[in-house]
Amino acid sequence: MQFVSLKNFYFYSMHYYKNVLETIGNTPLIKLNQVVEDIDATVLAKVETTNPGNSVKDRMALKMVEDAEARGELKPGGVIIECTSGNTGMGLAIAAVVKGYRCIFTATSKQSKEKIDLLRALGATVIICPSEVHPDHPESYYSVAQQLYHKTPNSFWCNQYDNPSNVLAHYQSTGPEIWQQTQGQITHFIVGIGTGGTISGVGRYLKEQNPQVKIWGVEPHGSVLKSVHETGKVDISQSHKYATEGIGQDMVPVNVDFEIIDHIEKVSCKDAALMTRAILQKEAILVGNSAGAAVAGLLQLKKQLKSSDVVVVLFHDHASRYIGKILNDEWMEAQGYLNDTNRLVNS
Ligand code: PMP
Repeated sequence: MQFVSLKNFYFYSMHYYKNVLETIGNTPLIKLNQVVEDIDATVLAKVETTNPGNSVKDRMALKMVEDAEARGELKPGGVIIECTSGNTGMGLAIAAVVKGYRCIFTATSKQSKEKIDLLRALGATVIICPSEVHPDHPESYYSVAQQLYHKTPNSFWCNQYDNPSNVLAHYQSTGPEIWQQTQGQITHFIVGIGTGGTISGVGRYLKEQNPQVKIWGVEPHGSVLKSVHETGKVDISQSHKYATEGIGQDMVPVNVDFEIIDHIEKVSCKDAALMTRAILQKEAILVGNSAGAAVAGLLQLKKQLKSSDVVVVLFHDHASRYIGKILNDEWMEAQGYLNDTNRLVNS
């Protein structure tokens, strides 16, 4: 007679992740309803907030770490260095806790306090650099990260702007997920552009499956990527300060693959901020301001869509990162974004 031990039975029936890194990816695709009621197409949001660091950047952070380990550039006890607007730092800090690395990040003074506080809570050292200087300036968050890398022994500088692992993460995970979730019926992909990793990796994968899929990027006024896409040159006269976090550039990252991008749409920071609130209030999807920018950009392009189209818009990060900004009436008021009808509280 054979006995099945109760202990083994439970052991074999248990289902769990070996650590938090295994929960990265496989994010939901959620239909948008109210905020896109003027659009004559099915609009689906790839909501990346269910990643452990609440953003899509967990995917590329882990990939940059694993690829650096495989190349022998990141060794046990090593120090991870990166210039990050917060979300990449969060993904790196999570990977570092699980894998036993130390992190030093440079961030700009524009980043929300919530992001910086969270990075520090995860054990990272965060150095704040001025946001209004050019990347070549010795005090820019880019240059400071580079200097730290040169003077810190056993360190690895991720450099998400140039690191091919950034694009590869989206080519190998985000892109295939979107293709499978839409059963290959996607006709348009629209997303904010920062380092270019998301649009280039997802865009390349989707175009390989179906070259007809349109890839649309979104950036704030003040960023130079649209000028590069359309003229091949950086029009520096277009570069100025803007409030939207995570997207837009005043330089051209290697990771932006302009060839796979069909169009770049400019969006005002006000429209992005108000749409971020609308997504929260009308769809109950809690996302950050690059999500609002992407939907605002899509609305600007609605005439190009027809009812049979299937649009996927990617939502990068969580609203909790913007409690002191987009979700705060005082901050919104100071930016000049509010009027009597769009306040959160009647004060
Ligand atoms: N939105 C947010 C909130 C981000 O942090 C980033 C990354 N900087 C982006 C959009 C842009 O993503 P990517 O760097 O892949 O272009």
